[in-house]
Amino acid sequence: MSLQPGALSALALEPAELSGAEPADLALLVYPSLHFYDGRGARLAVLNEIPDPVLKTMWGSFAELGIETAERLGVRLGDVVRVQTEAGSVELPAFPHQGVREGVVAVQAGQGHRPVDPDAPDPDRQARRQTIGVNAYPLIPGRLDAASGALAWYSARAEVSATGARALVARAQIGFDQENRGFARAMTLAAYQREEDPHAKADSGHGGGHGDGHGAEGEDVYGDKPLPAQGAASHLITKDYDPADDAHHDSPYRWGLNADLDTCVGCNACIVACAVENNSPIVGPEGARAGREMHWIRVERYVETAGVKVDVRHAPMMCQHCGAAPCESVCPVLATYHNVEGLNVMVSNRCIGTRFCSNNCPYKVRRFNHWAYDWAIEEPESFALNPDVMVRSKGVMEKCTMCVQRIAEGKDEAAREGRQVRDGDITPACAQTCPSQALTFGNLKHADSHVTHQRHDKRSYRILEHLYTRPGVNYQKAILRTDPHEA
Ligand code: SF4
Repeated sequence: MSLQPGALSALALEPAELSGAEPADLALLVYPSLHFYDGRGARLAVLNEIPDPVLKTMWGSFAELGIETAERLGVRLGDVVRVQTEAGSVELPAFPHQGVREGVVAVQAGQGHRPVDPDAPDPDRQARRQTIGVNAYPLIPGRLDAASGALAWYSARAEVSATGARALVARAQIGFDQENRGFARAMTLAAYQREEDPHAKADSGHGGGHGDGHGAEGEDVYGDKPLPAQGAASHLITKDYDPADDAHHDSPYRWGLNADLDTCVGCNACIVACAVENNSPIVGPEGARAGREMHWIRVERYVETAGVKVDVRHAPMMCQHCGAAPCESVCPVLATYHNVEGLNVMVSNRCIGTRFCSNNCPYKVRRFNHWAYDWAIEEPESFALNPDVMVRSKGVMEKCTMCVQRIAEGKDEAAREGRQVRDGDITPACAQTCPSQALTFGNLKHADSHVTHQRHDKRSYRILEHLYTRPGVNYQKAILRTDPHEA
């Protein structure tokens, strides 16, 4: 496809004219929700409980403000504010963050439906039982956009004022700073092409290396965030290991997963797929505000800055199926243990709920059933449960199994055909659903499997590997197309 010369300049649009008082009032931006679009998906509890890909909030609507704007208004996270335009007003919690331009208040559309089933039981039907969030459409004056003839979503100024009330915001992630822990790493395209790796020596435990030529030893490409000087502290063990050794020597399999941060776009589709495949319960708004969401996978979002340049990275985080799993050694009843195929197995019906494993997991990927969430499931909703996965009950731990039911099915199929599992035979729900194929599953004992090749790639690294957990999950660094240090 090609454009005629001058076609783009003919499309040049006039800046929107905003109604309302200036300059005290803020430009109001109502935008479609990434989960509910215009509101058509808002009745689905599972979508309400999946964290927003940018804000990492659950169950609600928020008035997004720039950091300085919020300070000028004297508003903090969770302060309930009134957003008033010439057309209407809503009250909702404030969410200041650096992703919003100063002088703007942004509100997602798609929430605020009236309850259709006020007597529905908790917590699975919260989206039908009560009004979640606010309806942002009444804030829009209803003028038409001159260029398109459609509703002008961005056409008004809004007065934002604190009401004095406070609200608890359900958040799956509190901060977007990696705190120098090197979770979501990146390298420049130039460094990749030169076959250099700014983390190579830091990752191997020697804490050296100039990487792409910027900054001091072991630094991330942004230079201002040095990674831990591994080997400098006595608790950091950086011995080489072969993940294939973390399965029984007679087993042909050591299952592993790879997450490519260069292709992950942080859409959260993997979280939905995992929750539906594995019958993960919905804890509702109160449970989410208490930090009790039950997702087996989360997508961590980190923001790196260098001057005015901003780099947003996403790192899917699930059980790492460690070869030396800290969770296993503290379980008093062996409810979590290492199986012969290298999986960190969780036997939920043997668990007595001490939660020692969760305390000892450095990745914080284990989930505890504070309630018997399955009690709220009745027919016909129960027909949506996956019959291959047990529904866990109150008082037990659960976590990612790498879709062990799919592994069993793949092995059964291979056995019926008198062969071993081939690369690509088994795909966990997260990898099957990922639109950018950022996740890959396979056999780390097989020299030619996709995951083995990815593990040997120069972008490859493991998260918190310096704790010598011997993770079965590998990560590949994102590639920065431009050097953040160049103007
Ligand atoms: S891993 Fe895939 S599905 Fe999950 S957030 Fe990244 S792109 Fe989306």
